[in-house]
Amino acid sequence: MDLFKKMDNLNEKNENSINLDSEIEKIKCLIIGSGPAGYTAAIYAARANLKPVLYEGLQPGGQLTTTTEVENFPGYPNGIDGPTMMEDLKKQAERFETDIRWGLATNADLSKSPFKIIIDNKKQIEAESVIIATGATAKYLGLESENKYKGQGVSACATCDGFFYKGQDVAVVGGGDSAAEEATYLSGICKKVYLIIRKNYMRASKAMIERVEKTSNIEVLYEHVTQEVLGDANGVSGVRLIKKNNEEVEISITGFFVAVGHHPNSDIFKKYIDVDEEGYIKTKPDSSLTNIAGVFACGDIQDAKYKQAITAAGSGCMAALDAEKYLSAKI
Ligand code: NAP
Repeated sequence: MDLFKKMDNLNEKNENSINLDSEIEKIKCLIIGSGPAGYTAAIYAARANLKPVLYEGLQPGGQLTTTTEVENFPGYPNGIDGPTMMEDLKKQAERFETDIRWGLATNADLSKSPFKIIIDNKKQIEAESVIIATGATAKYLGLESENKYKGQGVSACATCDGFFYKGQDVAVVGGGDSAAEEATYLSGICKKVYLIIRKNYMRASKAMIERVEKTSNIEVLYEHVTQEVLGDANGVSGVRLIKKNNEEVEISITGFFVAVGHHPNSDIFKKYIDVDEEGYIKTKPDSSLTNIAGVFACGDIQDAKYKQAITAAGSGCMAALDAEKYLSAKI
């Protein structure tokens, strides 16, 4: 029996059923996600009197809470750190009385309006409109040894965990902007940072590559593939790499940071919403409209290309305006 059948049969006694709250809350505009897209959608929706309710998800504030300096968001001439920026966006959304709540959307039935959303496998919501701003989650390499040492030296967030490796040698794997940023951040804390890149070039932006190259305690290892994260009861002690010529090398490190891209958090919506081959939600050109009227998407969940805080915020604004137009046409 699926979750929504269970919802329809709440009074049935079933030991295996999820214990859903019996009361269904009706919401005009539900925003799922709390990155720049979700908060911007909230600011606009609240000011349009849509009385938005925003669920923050697993990582309140989204990916920017795991970054340090944001230098490219307009309006901050001296830059701002990611967590502070997200806290400011949250306060701005609250100023217009957005109802911001802790909780994760765990299931959705978008087959018809009002849309049914389950929060934390428990609370039931019926929403007239839904703005999906669930972003994307960090990917890992998929090695058994990597999994074994997660939280014991393996991390996907240098700004969260870098502090624990102060004065030590660490490695970052990946050749994009995230990896370059993480390596640069760690270089300010750690003794030495190895940047492990599987190709013979970096995919990161020119400015980031230059920053990495100018940093004396970052050593870039091009054409190296991670074979195994090494360790013992104390956590990570090294990493075994294989070079293009099949030569194996081991480096001694205590922290292994993975920065190899992200997975779009669209899993609970995929049954209803059109997504691309990677799982990014497809939106109609120049809009936040999905294939379902009344369901909108903004931010990284629908943006495999730009993925910037400012583009996410802009698309959050679009989603709120699109939701407002949809709701006012319904009356
Ligand atoms: P990305 O651009 O997709 O880069 C992922 C990197 O990880 C690539 O170098 C890729 O290698 C490597 N990789 C993937 N799987 C791997 C594996 N199994 N083993 C080894 N390496 C692997 O991801 P991102 O760096 O997270 O950036 C995502 C987007 O956000 C980009 O558009 C980026 O510009 C943007 N971003 C911007 C900023 C900023 O402006 N401040 C900061 C962070 C991110 P290959 O090249 O070989 O595929």
